Amino acid sequence: MGWDFETDAEFAGQLAWMRAFIDRELIPLEPILDELPQDEWQVAKGYLQDQVKAQGLWGAFLDPELGGSGFGQLKLALMSEIIGRCMMSMTIFGVQAPDSGNMELLAHGATDGQKERWLWPNLRGEISSAFALTEPFFAGSDPTVIGTTAISDGDEWVINGRKWFITNASVADIVLVFAETSPDGRPHHHASIFIVPAGTPGMEIVRDIGTMAHPDVVYGRPGNHAEIVFRDCRVPADHMIGRPGDGFVLAQQRLGGGRIHHAMRWLGMAQRSLDIMGERAVSRTSHGKLLAQHQMIQDYVALSHTEIQAARLLTFQTAWKVDKDGAAAVRADLGMVKAHVSKVVLAVLDRTIQVCGALGYSSDLPVEAWYRSTRFGPIGDGPDELHKSVLARTLLKEYRPVEGWPTEHIPSRRPAAKERWAELRSGAGLG
Ligand SMILES: Cc1cc2nc3c(=O)[nH]c(=O)nc-3n(C[C@H](O)[C@H](O)[C@H](O)COP(=O)(O)OP(=O)(O)OC[C@H]3O[C@@H](n4cnc5c(N)ncnc54)[C@H](O)[C@@H]3O)c2cc1C
Repeated sequence: MGWDFETDAEFAGQLAWMRAFIDRELIPLEPILDELPQDEWQVAKGYLQDQVKAQGLWGAFLDPELGGSGFGQLKLALMSEIIGRCMMSMTIFGVQAPDSGNMELLAHGATDGQKERWLWPNLRGEISSAFALTEPFFAGSDPTVIGTTAISDGDEWVINGRKWFITNASVADIVLVFAETSPDGRPHHHASIFIVPAGTPGMEIVRDIGTMAHPDVVYGRPGNHAEIVFRDCRVPADHMIGRPGDGFVLAQQRLGGGRIHHAMRWLGMAQRSLDIMGERAVSRTSHGKLLAQHQMIQDYVALSHTEIQAARLLTFQTAWKVDKDGAAAVRADLGMVKAHVSKVVLAVLDRTIQVCGALGYSSDLPVEAWYRSTRFGPIGDGPDELHKSVLARTLLKEYRPVEGWPTEHIPSRRPAAKERWAELRSGAGLG
């Protein structure tokens, strides 16, 4: 019987170190993070990252067989839950999206030469990367149809098209571009992925797009989402990852992992939000009693805790399945986790805003900003409707149609039940 919910003592020690480090070094900086001089913050960031590296906890999203220093997805889930309490921790622990997904893609599909040039420097935090799939004029939820093309010309590929919402593209050193190389290969072998280094002629970062998270966008900020135009953008043939037509499969590999990694971090954010809710509930009095003594507030607290615990178990169990069977075997589960936990974290954030009243709605607390930045959850990495649809189709494959009455139709089952009872009576010596 191998059903165990305990973390081994050694790793529990590492998790305790992480929590203390984030509480001591990172969370206190949050209120002034945007005001820090960028050049000084870069140096300070390196100093903090060195401490994480010395602790052996850097870049833990990539497992050793892929060249990383990870510990598997279940342990990553436990780490990410702590990291999710403070979003800047992602950079400090070297697990920031979209780099982590891009590195996973490179680890699976890149040649040794490509890994040497781009993967290892990315893993060491020396360069950063973006992933460009979504386009303004085609549904991002259906990458079997895209407008960006790459045409082979001698020993180069020529890319044309328009992408948008490409996270970090305005600051990244490389952009991994998903482009159609062979329309005949539709739906799943039509596209390939190219590495386009920043500054390549023909790749123009048009703008960073304002979003709910950052309506007043400042160009070139890490975490922004860019619109990019490719006009006869030429890259050498060795900038293609994998073989022509591998793009869709490689992208799925990348997005599958990314989906559960988002969920792991949202657990931490949801718990920190519940902590804010709880503190307010036991501190504020209304109509002669503490908010915590009003039953509807108790319902918010109990429901939020229950939902977070259920989401944790679902996420951890799915991470465990990935470790056991591989991500491809649990593709529908990965989408299920993303679709479920994105709803849970938003619901908990929303209740926290409600319990904190005007204060919750204000930027005096971090919850409204977390809510705005997390609202992308049900949309990003494929909309939740799509993941639920994939899950339902996967589940429905297990069922077979029946003629006439359903298998469980009680009147139809009565004759067989009577026969069974007669056999049982006889077997039990009842005559
Ligand atoms: C903050 C943020 C960061 C992002 N970063 C990146 C990035 O770095 N790189 C990148 O390539 N993209 C990125 N994206 C884009 C993201 O991946 C897409 O937004 C997502 O895949 C959905 O595509 P779309 O926006 O074109 O929506 P559409 O495909 O137009 O879908 C719109 C809506 O239609 C509905 N819908 C679509 N398909 C179905 C279906 N099968 N069944 C039922 N309903 C459906 C859903 O309600 C969906 O929300 C980012 C998006 C956001 C918001």
